[in-house]
Parts: sequence; structure tokens; C-alpha cells
Amino acid sequence: MVEFFNQMSKYGHEQVVFCHDKTSGLKAVIAIHNTILGPSLGGLRMWPYKNESEAVEDALRLSKGMTYKNAAAGLNIGGGKAVIIGDSKKDKSEALFRAFGQFVDSLGGRYITAEDVGTCVEDMEMIKLETDYVSGLPEKEGGGGDPSPYTAQGTFEGIKIAVKHRLKRDDLKGVKVAVQGLGHVGYYLCKYLSKKGAELIVCDIDEDRVKKIVKKYNATAVGINDIYGVNCDVFAPCALGAVINDETIDTLTCSIVAGASNNQLLDEIKHGEILKKKNILYAPDYIINSGGVINVYYEAINQYNKDKVSKKVDKIYNTLDEIFKSSKEANITTNEAAAKLSEDRINNISGIHNFYRKNK
Ligand code: NAD
Repeated sequence: MVEFFNQMSKYGHEQVVFCHDKTSGLKAVIAIHNTILGPSLGGLRMWPYKNESEAVEDALRLSKGMTYKNAAAGLNIGGGKAVIIGDSKKDKSEALFRAFGQFVDSLGGRYITAEDVGTCVEDMEMIKLETDYVSGLPEKEGGGGDPSPYTAQGTFEGIKIAVKHRLKRDDLKGVKVAVQGLGHVGYYLCKYLSKKGAELIVCDIDEDRVKKIVKKYNATAVGINDIYGVNCDVFAPCALGAVINDETIDTLTCSIVAGASNNQLLDEIKHGEILKKKNILYAPDYIINSGGVINVYYEAINQYNKDKVSKKVDKIYNTLDEIFKSSKEANITTNEAAAKLSEDRINNISGIHNFYRKNK
């Protein structure tokens, strides 16, 4: 147990809840990292972790990431995340998600859950039977539905401002963008980019997805291992994490890395610095891909409105503009500039709260 407290202290967590339900077989961890800006919000991941420590570590790491993502996006919400230990292909049941929903409810709103890897809208509907502290419900239920179009919209805005900074251009006509992964986000991103005249180079392990985009948007297909070294202006990872690593980083020919994948850099510090040295402008992943959480946020605070969501997502352009400028001024990586932006906002708001409490 002492080890877990050390980990909480290392990451700066407020609370970690271990949830167990014998009947449904639920084993879950809810990690609340920081609630200074508001209740914690972050998805529920279902994954067959090798052991319990791995599950706790993932919950701690991901919930801290949500604090930074939500703060930088200008949302009045803190960071949290939950994980269920299990195989999403065979261990799901109504009882499992309802039991989880009861644990979420017991926290009285300190944690709001949503979809993540291994969970989907149908699972959220089951959780909703037990608690109101759940977001990411289908549109027919009054929810925000699939967040991917908004994630793609934010990524597109991020690419525009990165191109302005690095290529000194206000338009995307003829700009070569290599999109890795043509799933939910990659598909919409290609649509946005093609509309503005960008040249698309694409890859996916799913050949049907590649064929569809090649046909629809006149894209050029390349192999999954060739995407890194392909001649392009922008590399947009929209498939997996850790794609910028010791093996790939020297093969990059792009001048910008800007895509939707989470945790794109295998080692945030080391690979962030190498990109900087190579003069490749990196749009920090949790800033550029925050369109999805913005969508979930408005639903969570009962103010869902597509127009409002879309306007807030467009602001990712301004946030990245600020990050690119401040990283240049301070001669730090864009990652460091992004972290500073989030930390400054949390510290400033925490100052206001202290002032209020002291004068109450
Ligand atoms: P998705 O599963 O719909 O699509 C991923 C695509 O990548 C699939 O088409 C898959 O076949 C392809 N792929 C897998 N391995 C590949 C490889 N080695 N090379 C090329 N393609 C490969 O996922 P998504 O919802 O589109 O999300 C994409 C990324 O963006 C993920 O990293 C996700 O965590 C992140 N993200 C998504 C959202 C969202 O709203 N969906 C929000 C924030 C971050």
C-alpha cells in the first residue's frame, strides 16, 4: 500500500478508489488527480492488465494527463480517469457496468466518467442507470455522440496554425500531409484537409479504409512502415501512441508533427528535445486532440450545444499559437510550453480559491 501512496505523491494525486464487486467480477480503479478547476473528468478504459500494479499505474498516468488536457483546453473541470481490469471482448456485462456506475455515484460528482479504449456508448448507457456522473451518451439520449469529428476538427485547426508558424503560410493548398491511421479521427481529418487543397499521403493496416480515402480524396497510399520517411510537410499520427521513438525519429522528413494520437512521443522529454533540435515543430498531442473532451465536457455540464462545442474546438488554433510563441520565446520544447500553460492556469485558479476561502 505504501508503494501506491508513493506513486500518488509522485504524480500529485488527490484520491484513488479501488472498486470491487464480487457478483459481477468488477475490479476497477478510479484515479482523481486534481479538482482545482472542477470535478474530475476522464474516460473509462477497459484493458486486460497483466497485474494490478500495471492497472494502478495506468490510471495514475492517464488521470494526470487529463488534468493537463482539460486545463489547457480552458475547461472548468479537473482530471480523472478510471480503468477496469478485464478483456473488453469477453468480460463485459450489464452488472459490471452498473456496479461501476454505483462506485462512480458514491463519489458524489468528484469524478465524471466517459468512453475510452475498450468502452463505448452502450456501456455508458448502462452506467447511466446508476449515476448521472457519466458523459459520452448517444445523441438520441441527449448526449454528444461520437466525439471523433470534433477531435478531427481540432487537429485540423492545429495543423493550420503549425503550418502558419513553420511554413509561413495561411492556406493548405498543396501542403503535403501524411496521415497515419484512417479510423474515426483520421477519416474526418482527411475530409477537412482535402477540402482545403492539402495533398494527402495515407496509410492504415486496414486496406479497405485506405482504398476509400484514396478514391474519395485522391490520396497517395504508402505502406505502414514507409509513412515516417515519406516526403511531406506534416506528419499526422492518428493511429497509435509512441510512434515518435528512437527508430522513427531520424527517418522523419517533415517539418511539423501534428496529429490526434495520444502519447505520440515514446519519451516526452528526450524525443521532444530531439524534435526541437531537428527544427520539427511538434503540436503537443493533448492540446491538439482535445476536441473530443470538449464535446464530452459540454454534455457533462448539461450545456450540450454543437455550435458551442465547435466554437470552443476552434480555439485550439489560438492555444497552439500561444504555445508555439512561448516555446520560441523561452527556447523550450512545445511540450514544456504546453505543460506550463496548464500549470499556470491551475495555479492561478487555485490562488483565487484560497483568496475566497480566506475571506469567507
Ligand atoms: P480508431 O481505432 O477509429 O482508428 C485508428 C486507425 O488506425 C484504424 O483505422 C486502425 O486500423 C489504424 N491503425 C492501427 N495500427 C496502425 C498502424 N500500425 N499503422 C497505420 N494505421 C494503423 O481510433 P480513433 O478514434 O480514430 O483515434 C485515433 C487516435 O487518436 C488514437 O490514438 C486515439 O487515442 C486518439 N484520440 C482519439 C479521440 C477521438 O475522439 N476518437 C480523441 C482523442 C485522442
